[in-house]
Order: sequence, then C-alpha cells, then structure tokens
Amino acid sequence: HNAKEQGLELNRYAHAMQMKAQERLQLENDLRKALDRGQFYLMYQPQVNLASGLVVGMEALVRWQHPQRGSISPAEFIPLAEESGLIVPLGEWVLRQACKQNKIWQEAGYRKLCVSVNLSMRQFRHSHLLDNISGILNETGLEPAWLELEITESMTFDKDRAFEQLRKIKEIGVHISIDDFGTGYSSLHYLKDLPIDRLKIDRSFVNEVMEDRNNAAIVSTITSMAHHLQLKVTAEGVENEEQLVFLRDQHCHEAQGYFFSKPILPSDFETKFLRDVDKPAG
Ligand code: C2E
Ligand code: MG
Ligand code: MG
Ligand code: MG
Repeated sequence: HNAKEQGLELNRYAHAMQMKAQERLQLENDLRKALDRGQFYLMYQPQVNLASGLVVGMEALVRWQHPQRGSISPAEFIPLAEESGLIVPLGEWVLRQACKQNKIWQEAGYRKLCVSVNLSMRQFRHSHLLDNISGILNETGLEPAWLELEITESMTFDKDRAFEQLRKIKEIGVHISIDDFGTGYSSLHYLKDLPIDRLKIDRSFVNEVMEDRNNAAIVSTITSMAHHLQLKVTAEGVENEEQLVFLRDQHCHEAQGYFFSKPILPSDFETKFLRDVDKPAG
C-alpha cells in the first residue's frame, strides 16, 4: 500500500464507523418515541409440563414494529434500551401488558396459566421495582402467583442487593426464575441462598443435547441439582421429539421451544393453546 491508498482506506473505515454511530443514534431516537407511538407488542410462547403434556404457562416476549425497518428483534433493541434507560418504562409496559392479557384469559374462563416476564438488569436494580410490580398487579387484578419474573445470573452478582430485591418480590407472592441458566457467572454458593423458584436451562445446552454428550451431562446435572434444591426446572429451546424424550426421562418439569411453538400473537395463542384446554401439546 502506498500512503495515498492507506489514507483512502482509513477514510472509508472512518466513514463506515460514522455511519454505524449515526444508525445507532437514529435507532436510539426512534426507540425513545416508540413507546408513545404504540410500536411495541408482545408475543407469547407456551411452556409445557412434561408429565402431563399440558400447557401450564407462557413467556411474554417483546417485539418492536419499526415504521421503516419492520419487526426488530429484542436482541437488537433491548441492549440499546438498557443503555439509554428506556428499559425502565418499556419494562413496565411489558409487565402491565402481560399481566393484563393473562387476567383477560383467566376471566374468559380458560384454565389458569402462569405468565413469565423478562426483567433487565436496570429494572432489577431500580428502587421502584417492587412498587411497580404491586401497582400493576393491583391495577390488573392478576393474582401474584400467576406471574413469574425471569432474571439472569449476572443480576445476582451483587449478592446482598439481589437477595433483598428477590426477597421482597417473593414476599408479595410472585415467582422468580433464573433465565439462560448455565451461561452466566452465578456460583453454587449464591444459588443455595437466593430465594428463587426455578432454573431455566439455556437453550444452547438443550439444542445439542442429542449430538453432544457433554451437553447431555450438563442438562441432566442441572435438572438433578434443581430437584435436590427443590427448584422447578424448565428446558429452553426444545426443537424436536428426541430432546423432549430425553428431558422427560430426566424428570425435567417443563419445556419451551419451537417443537411446541414459536412465540406467537395473543390471538393465535388463544386459538391454539387455550380453546382446547384438554388437548395435550406434544
Ligand atoms: P429469553 O428470555 O431467553 O427468551 C427465549 C428466546 O429464545 C426467545 O427469543 C425465543 O423466541 C427463543 N426461542 C424459544 N424457543 C426456541 C427454540 O426452540 N429454538 C431457538 N433457536 N430459539 C428459541 P426472542 O423472543 O428473540 O428474545 C430474545 C431475548 O430478548 C430473550 O431471551 C430475552 O432475554 C430478551 N427479551 C425478550 N423480551 C424481553 C422483555 O420484555 N424484556 C427484557 N428485559 N428482555 C426481553
Ligand atoms: Mg426469558
Ligand atoms: Mg433472557
Ligand atoms: Mg433464555
């Protein structure tokens, strides 16, 4: 490369970086308006009890319908929302929406299900979290036992703080699960003391449980540990029947994954999983 070519390349690089930064800034701006403009919506994915084959719960998963870019995945905008602080009002919206929907379905006379809602680090740390949760439960009339909050291992890093926050949430009767279990940093020392109800085994282990003996060992060890700690255990990312059979053999309580259903719109969830309450799924 001569000096001129190098200069051009640097220029191109700087330009690309600037575009990235601009795009990001634009997306952040759009995100700020999205809540007021009603561009968020929830999808629901069923959670199936492996002993009975019945749907016993659903996870609420947020989506953003961007006016130009179409549907944007939470993997893309949740980190942005975290950084800008928007996750706090967005998270509150998700929680309210999920509780409201669950209450509507209960009132309609369907068998009662538990709704799981993901919490972000920033929400979990927020001092008004508990007030927000009880406020929403009051307002929607949903009994706390039909709500489960999903946190990740990284949120329990500050043990004393996490313990306090979790204890208060448990006190009002809401359930707590640890999401993506096995991918974070929680030590067994934390796990034994934290007031939690459930472990959700990360889908990276479940996805290749039949292909990789190490994954099978991890899944069966987490399941057995959960039993010994008297915790419920859910396998995420179940995509085929072989995986399901393996999990059932391990006495894993519940499973979630594309094998049963992808996350779907509330109207589809109602048609597929609530109307035929006695029809086992899977
Ligand atoms: P998550 O909480 O672990 O949710 C499960 C994710 O795995 C969902 O992706 C779901 O569509 C996907 N999934 C479920 N079953 C399968 C399967 O069998 N195979 C595969 N390949 N994937 C499966 P989604 O909806 O894109 O959400 C991604 C992540 O974004 C969530 O992971 C969660 O961490 C976060 N998220 C979603 N909604 C919210 C929310 O309302 N608040 C917060 N803070 N985070 C959220
Ligand atoms: Mg989750
Ligand atoms: Mg998660
Ligand atoms: Mg997960």
